[in-house]
Amino acid sequence: MASITRENRVLVRDQDPAFRLARSDGAIVYDTRGKRYIDFVMGWCVGNFGWGNPALARAARNFRGPDYVYPGYSYEPWIELADLLSSIAPRRGMKCFRATGGSEAVDIALQAAMVHTGRRRFVSLEDSYHGNTLGALSVGASDNRDLIPNLLSGCHKIQPPLDEKALERIERLLKGREVAAFIMEPISINLGVLVPERAFMRELQRLCRAYGTMLIMDEVATGFGRTGTLFATEQLGIQPDMICVAKAITGGYGGLGATLATGPIAKTMETSGNFYSTYGWHPRSTHVAIATIRYIIAHRKWLLSNVSRMSERFRERLSQIHFEYEPELRMRGLAIGVDVHDEEYASQIDERCQSAGLLITTAGSTLMLLPPLNINRRVTEEGLEILADCV
Ligand code: PMP
Repeated sequence: MASITRENRVLVRDQDPAFRLARSDGAIVYDTRGKRYIDFVMGWCVGNFGWGNPALARAARNFRGPDYVYPGYSYEPWIELADLLSSIAPRRGMKCFRATGGSEAVDIALQAAMVHTGRRRFVSLEDSYHGNTLGALSVGASDNRDLIPNLLSGCHKIQPPLDEKALERIERLLKGREVAAFIMEPISINLGVLVPERAFMRELQRLCRAYGTMLIMDEVATGFGRTGTLFATEQLGIQPDMICVAKAITGGYGGLGATLATGPIAKTMETSGNFYSTYGWHPRSTHVAIATIRYIIAHRKWLLSNVSRMSERFRERLSQIHFEYEPELRMRGLAIGVDVHDEEYASQIDERCQSAGLLITTAGSTLMLLPPLNINRRVTEEGLEILADCV
């Protein structure tokens, strides 16, 4: 399965001129000609709470803080955001490090693992995507090396399926005690919604602990409710050493990411690392991120039950649609992948949907649907009917 999604391949200058976004509202976006589209992409897990969510929009509008804060200074809202993030994180007592987005959060985690362990090798899943810095690309798909041959050396990739054989290979790699970290998405949205078995993850954690390798969960896309729990890690029964978050944390109102690390790693980072970032946790983005987490905490029960209800409806309706070949439906919550087994067919459906007023995207031969978590029944049905008409 090819993993570099269309989203990740896009170059600003070559953007598809057929789609020019003008405005957005909830689960609906409009192009510059005023055409209406249902958005089942939501910026690939950025708009989890709907575009223009009143709580987030109000925070963005009413921000009265400083234009900028130098990273060497102290700023009360940084402490507040770190405390809030740490209070909802799947592992207790984690410390937060400031980043501008997902790629930087991943790079910080990789660097922290190197500094903390004194090692320089990494293991990750083949064809995964963790961002566009050289570090993140190094642990991403191997074919990146055709384009950029001097990525980090010593990066090994595990080819799914994630089974006994994969664990044997991982143990062989970790045994030498040279691997700083194992990084993966807990549920891999970039691999078309790949859901590992809990037993696999437990054993992976045991191996990492046995050989002194840090376990990093990249929750940049899965974080903040997408898979039916606040973090996908919660479903896997593991306690990672680091967690990367970004995307939905500001609902799109500002760039912001964070690397959450256990106490001992954070201590190493404070004493030995250099994680300076000029725009890390910009005050305006911080203000919206605080509002986002407060919104999540206040509406947690309703949001997660809506994800569960709508997820069931997607499952039911998608399994009634007659695709050319019997599709494989992979989903958790509102992270939905419909593998139609043919990349060309998948992109034809994607294009037809766009013409008919529905935005979806693809990861290889998998149709990706990532609707907002607070989507209502009416828009869900409307979007699914368009999809059914386009296959
Ligand atoms: N990790 C994952 C799992 C992602 O999906 C992405 C973005 N698609 C990133 C990291 C990189 O995040 P950003 O684009 O904010 O740098």
